[in-house]
Amino acid sequence: VDDVVQETLARVLAARGRLNEDELAPYAVVTARNLMTTLWQTEDRRRRHNHRLIEVDAPVRPDEQVIAEEERSLVNRALAELSPRDREILVAHEVEGADTAALARRWNSTPAAVAAQLARARAKLRVEYLVALEGAELPTTQCRPILRALSAGDRRRQQELDARDHLLRCPFCARLAELLFEHRPASRPSDKTVRVEGDADVVAARRLGRDLASELGFSATDRTIIATAISEIARNIVGFAERGELVMSVVEESGERGLRIVARDAGPGIADLQLAQQDGYSTYGGMGLGLPGCRRLMDEFDITSEIGKGTTVTMTKWRRPRAGPS
Ligand SMILES: [Zn+2]
Repeated sequence: VDDVVQETLARVLAARGRLNEDELAPYAVVTARNLMTTLWQTEDRRRRHNHRLIEVDAPVRPDEQVIAEEERSLVNRALAELSPRDREILVAHEVEGADTAALARRWNSTPAAVAAQLARARAKLRVEYLVALEGAELPTTQCRPILRALSAGDRRRQQELDARDHLLRCPFCARLAELLFEHRPASRPSDKTVRVEGDADVVAARRLGRDLASELGFSATDRTIIATAISEIARNIVGFAERGELVMSVVEESGERGLRIVARDAGPGIADLQLAQQDGYSTYGGMGLGLPGCRRLMDEFDITSEIGKGTTVTMTKWRRPRAGPS
């Protein structure tokens, strides 16, 4: 009982910013109900699969291929439910790797407008993916617009559609609402987190950094500088710590805005920070700029490391007002 209450409170608090006050209680009810179901299923699965605990780090998993195939077909089905415009922007950004500045030029729009449209398209895709995952038809015509409003955190629309009432009466939407909020980071909404485990994540981190920099109005040169520092740090994580995360956030100090990147890993740590920050020292293969390069590129750079525990790098680039006649 304690676990369910604690977990329910944690989830309600995490979703608080995205729901109306009077939706909190119904949301808590459906969350607790879903948690009970999940707990029961987990217990049951553990009992049936007890023997599997012996297979620690099973090297080959023949089901991985099947899972990847299934995942692809789910995403395809979800994409098919979106409008051509939403599909186009998601594919251009996520698959072709175009950043918001490039997309704004292509569609004669602004990076901020493109970013907003991307966010809406992602919110819809999340819903369609979960619907495909459930493998069932939506029970009512109200379900889709309500789920989309919940996914986008659009509180005005939630109220218009009376999402509160619907969540209590529609078990399908109650379940999906729980899944929609499950993957939401509890951090500030402007924070963007990228898990870094492989080369593809380095690319994703760099692209996200470039996007945020362009939304903040950084010059093309600064956007490249920021992207370079990010990929350097992310590659360090992949090469040395194997996995970690990058959190990027917009910061503001005395009227100046900037982009802050915090890179954390749980790797072996760096024994000699002084040495690691000297020119010519590169932590992986001697190819890149290394930490000294990042320090030079960014306005602020700080590193802390603990042997056997991990390393945290915090770096910030400030957006300077463009110099010119005033
Ligand atoms: Zn529904």
